[in-house]
Amino acid sequence: MGKAARLFNGTAEQTLYGRVTPTAEQREVLQTQWNALADHLKEQLAAWGYPISTWLQGSYKYGTLIKPVHKGEEYDVDVGVYFEWNPGDVDISPTPAQLRHWVQRELVEYRQSNPDVERVEEPPKERCSRVTYQRQFHIDTPTYHLNRGTDERRLACLSGKWENSDPKALYKWFKNAIGSDNREQLRRLVRYLKGWAAVAFEEAPASRPSSILLTVLTTEAFSEMWGARLLGIADDDALVAVIESMYVRMHKDRRVRNPVDRDEDLNRISDEAWDAFLTRLTVLRDAAQMSSDAEDEAGAALAWAGAFSFLMPLPETDELEVVEHLSGRALMQIPEIQVQVFDSERKSLLATHMNEVPAVGRNQALTFTIVNRQVIPDFAAIEWTVRNDGTEADYLGDLGHASGGIGMFSVDERTAYVGKHYMDCIIRCNGSVFSARRIPVFISADVRALAKPVQRNWTRLRTRRGRRR
Ligand SMILES: [Mg+2]
Repeated sequence: MGKAARLFNGTAEQTLYGRVTPTAEQREVLQTQWNALADHLKEQLAAWGYPISTWLQGSYKYGTLIKPVHKGEEYDVDVGVYFEWNPGDVDISPTPAQLRHWVQRELVEYRQSNPDVERVEEPPKERCSRVTYQRQFHIDTPTYHLNRGTDERRLACLSGKWENSDPKALYKWFKNAIGSDNREQLRRLVRYLKGWAAVAFEEAPASRPSSILLTVLTTEAFSEMWGARLLGIADDDALVAVIESMYVRMHKDRRVRNPVDRDEDLNRISDEAWDAFLTRLTVLRDAAQMSSDAEDEAGAALAWAGAFSFLMPLPETDELEVVEHLSGRALMQIPEIQVQVFDSERKSLLATHMNEVPAVGRNQALTFTIVNRQVIPDFAAIEWTVRNDGTEADYLGDLGHASGGIGMFSVDERTAYVGKHYMDCIIRCNGSVFSARRIPVFISADVRALAKPVQRNWTRLRTRRGRRR
């Protein structure tokens, strides 16, 4: 049980949790900025004569925020802006469009005085305005009318309607759904699934489940697992169970009622996009099943990587040999990979390495080539996955990418971020892993400063092929 738990949230060099969760420093940058923006809005908007308050909502509030995982993506922070009045006390009250206009105007004003702000989205979205910052994040400002007497909130839409929407009630539900002993684990489970949604729907963005949809599905599935929670369950095992529950539920009935407003369906994926969602959920469920059937950590990690791609860390090893269940014989030899280092224009060859790149500068071109092609079975899929690590890659939210195909014996890359990264080459036949090689790539700001690499021994991990069902 919990075969991949060390790689999910344990002592491994890299963990899935660590890869998707913002660091304390990253959270602090966000917090400073939303505090400053909230203060500005409260002060300036008070001029309209209504008490103004703000309330952090969304992933940050829930403790389920994840890092941007692809280059160009941003952290998403939501700060609600509340105009307070009691409808019985006033003759005329502002319209939704008016509130939205006031807030948008203050944001544009704010941009003039804050060099960290890159732009204010124009025109604003139907349900919020958006301020985009230089440092890889944006803040959304949904705007509400608050009636303190009845404790009711409604969202001001740009098109002029009020929408019944109470982020506070849903947050309360989330906080009370699970006892405090298990709340952190629930938050981790939500983060894993948000990481999955970030990588699995790159080609099908209309089918991507929203954060709130995943949060409610995970919470409802986890709250039914009271026995497992009581006894304690490893993150990967809990995730298998949550995915199974989601899979069954979504195939049966796609509606996901808002737990605090039964009339609202939180599933906003359109009919046209629904099949592509189910297909990807099936891939995730298959990965979960295969990880359960795996014999060891490496087998489980490789299974999970089928759904989490470059986000899922692999065990710390150079070579991974898959052995037949009964005989203990290796299914195939490990691929030997030559790495050529070129200058940025690919004009001159600077160095050639085997199976690792002990030192390389930034902005150089690399070519990885399998040299013992004869060991690769016909029609095997050759997967090349880059797993970036280190603060530079993290800062830009570029955690990796993957490519591959039958007969793809070679792949080109570029070096960008200082740190230790991996190129992982995985050979799959009919969906099951036959062997893998991990090629560490050490990228340095100043290559000359590095000592000459010493000859080292390669570490080899053996994994038993999972029993066929
Ligand atoms: Mg948002």
